[in-house]
Amino acid sequence: MDIKLDPSRDDLPLMANTSHILVKHYVLDLDVDFESQIIEGTIVLFFESGNRFKKWSSSTEVACRSESNEACRFRMPEPYQIPVTSTKTFSSKIGYDDFVICGKGGKDTSGKDGNHGNQEQASGISSSKHCCDAGNHGSEEFLLVLDCCDLSVLKVEEVDVAAAPGIEKFTRSPELRNQIVHDLVALPADRWREQLDCYARCSQAPGCGELLFDTDPWSLQIRKTGAQTATDFPHAIRIRYRTKPQGRSVTWTSDQSGRPCVYTVGSPINNRALFPCQEPPVAMSTWQATVRAAASFVVLMSGENSAKPTQLREGYSSWYYYVTMPMPASTFTIAVGSWTEVKPEICSPNDLAIERSSSPSEADFRYVGFCGHMEYPCRFQNASATTQKIIPHRVFAPVCLKSACQETLLPLIPPCLSAAYCVLGTHPFSRLDILIVPANFSSLGMASPHIVFLSQSTLTGMSQLCGTRLCHEIAHAWFGLAIGARDWTEEWLSEGFATHLEDVFWAKAQQQLAPHEAQEQQELRACLRWHRLQDEVQNSPEEMQVLRPNKEKTGHVSDSGSSVIRHGLNPEKVFMQVHYLKGYFLLRFLAKRLGEDTYFSFLRKFVHTFHGQLILSQDFLQMLLENIPEEKRPELSVGNIFRDWLESSGIPQPLQRERQARAECGLAQQVSAEVAKWVRVNRRPRKRKRKDREEVFEKVRHRWCELIVKHKYTKAYRDVERFLQEDQAMGIYLYGELMLSEDPRQQHLARRCFELSKEQMDRSSAEVVAEMLF
Ligand SMILES: [Zn+2]
Repeated sequence: MDIKLDPSRDDLPLMANTSHILVKHYVLDLDVDFESQIIEGTIVLFFESGNRFKKWSSSTEVACRSESNEACRFRMPEPYQIPVTSTKTFSSKIGYDDFVICGKGGKDTSGKDGNHGNQEQASGISSSKHCCDAGNHGSEEFLLVLDCCDLSVLKVEEVDVAAAPGIEKFTRSPELRNQIVHDLVALPADRWREQLDCYARCSQAPGCGELLFDTDPWSLQIRKTGAQTATDFPHAIRIRYRTKPQGRSVTWTSDQSGRPCVYTVGSPINNRALFPCQEPPVAMSTWQATVRAAASFVVLMSGENSAKPTQLREGYSSWYYYVTMPMPASTFTIAVGSWTEVKPEICSPNDLAIERSSSPSEADFRYVGFCGHMEYPCRFQNASATTQKIIPHRVFAPVCLKSACQETLLPLIPPCLSAAYCVLGTHPFSRLDILIVPANFSSLGMASPHIVFLSQSTLTGMSQLCGTRLCHEIAHAWFGLAIGARDWTEEWLSEGFATHLEDVFWAKAQQQLAPHEAQEQQELRACLRWHRLQDEVQNSPEEMQVLRPNKEKTGHVSDSGSSVIRHGLNPEKVFMQVHYLKGYFLLRFLAKRLGEDTYFSFLRKFVHTFHGQLILSQDFLQMLLENIPEEKRPELSVGNIFRDWLESSGIPQPLQRERQARAECGLAQQVSAEVAKWVRVNRRPRKRKRKDREEVFEKVRHRWCELIVKHKYTKAYRDVERFLQEDQAMGIYLYGELMLSEDPRQQHLARRCFELSKEQMDRSSAEVVAEMLF
């Protein structure tokens, strides 16, 4: 192992040796059992071997900095040198592009939402040394390393793909197992159905020999006696395993109607406690999954098909999903619960009208058919997909929130999807499920391929919170998923973009909004974010405030492909918004400097160029600066932007100057006046009518609670209590304020609320709150 972990550090290790061998496809076959809170089954991994990533990862950056924009934009596949097995060489057809997608599902912590912490040391790890063969396995054997945590691995075996029925028709060498996998992986994009079908059949083929394996806190290591290189190692393996109830990738809980459910939490450790996988961003794969649960449950997943259940015997049903666009295993999401599909009360003819009327302008879509990513059935190459303003969508929620969804969420989806399309063009994903997640979900939203989680907190009050959050998650389809960060430390590439775009989408989605009103809304939100950013830089460690801490080493990995995510396990990090806020202000600054029209037309071009690929900060900045006339960018250079915005702690100098120069905007002044009025009202001893208070509570619940705490308005403490129970995602900060007040009554209130809700709280949130309270 070439990564030495220092347990005193908070970095998250990515262990998989992706430079040697890459997973191209996963086939999952799982049973979900709510009684034992275990997911159990098999995963079959199909590999491609190669050592190209080592060379690529250290040279691209230089190439990108020095070569022309064209070279960067249309990177041609490098010849792919596969180590030669026996006497066979591979056809040149396999020259897949190295520039693979990676996106980490956007995990959103903006707003007053807590997020995923991971203070727990690796615990409950299967450290037993399973070996199914006592034979000699010297160090010269090739070792497959998978990211794996909190899983019980029961058996690992080679799959005899040669025994799968019907594989002869596409492979040249039905007798050579690795060659079969190689041919299968290399099928062209237009044969994706056949490919998925073959993967499914191969995954069910019998085993042909158990493999040696071992686990440690962060990985699963597999070897085959006598297989000395990645090329000799079996290219299709099956792992039988089960999850653990306390595993940190999924949360077992109850929904708001009191029924059991389980969902992936997008915690810092991603999916490695759900299935063994390759975590590093360069490892991209497709997947298909069959999941069985009792028939009363709905299974939702990152899949491009809108799955319907197949009834099995004895009250069970099975759900099948797949994707054909390669994505990192970390973006896979699953949720199983007794949710109901929420449909509009009457089908609105409007939606259809909107869809039909969409005729994109020529200029926006001149790139159709020209993609820089590895081959897959891409929507940007599909004429009907490129004109689809509103993609098909479904909404799922617990029964008790059905009408709230009908009133608040459903009417917002078409305008928000349509606004996103108007700004960025083609939706990268063909459909979308939206799930209202349980109360213990620790943030306001999370985006994954084909599925968005929204907190119930977004359903209360006016459409503003729901609309902006929905726009933020929709923006992640482009930034975070279709275009991913090559180094997850550069989180701003996902969160900064989504935060900036949420305002832009939302302004377009509110149909009757005059341009000056949109402008004022955006200014107001900028003011609020500015205050939050100032707070955060004053109250957080300096090293955590840097957006590109790895500087020129960004994206570097070890020889094997393993790496670490700086501060990835730091519990504080998940509550910090500096990547959202500084990233947002940088993009806002650039958009203003260039002019909105120039900036957004550039952004569409950027999306066309880089969708399906991984990027580093310089890929974006370089292309931006090269696409705008020189007179529009005095003093702007990649180097200056790195220095001022991405590689320094604290408030970026250009932002400081801009904020100091400006007077507060009209709306912000109104808000200040409003706050001052509330302060006066709260000081008055007169009795407020309960009805008034209820109304205010519904509208500005969180702000209201903050004011209650700040002004020690004891009569409304019950509201704070209710808020902390129902809106756990936003409650974390309120706990902090209650404790900071050093008022015994408030502290008592905080402790009592925590006692009431800690059992169902998200674990990392509970740990953070417990630390504040005791
Ligand atoms: Zn494409």
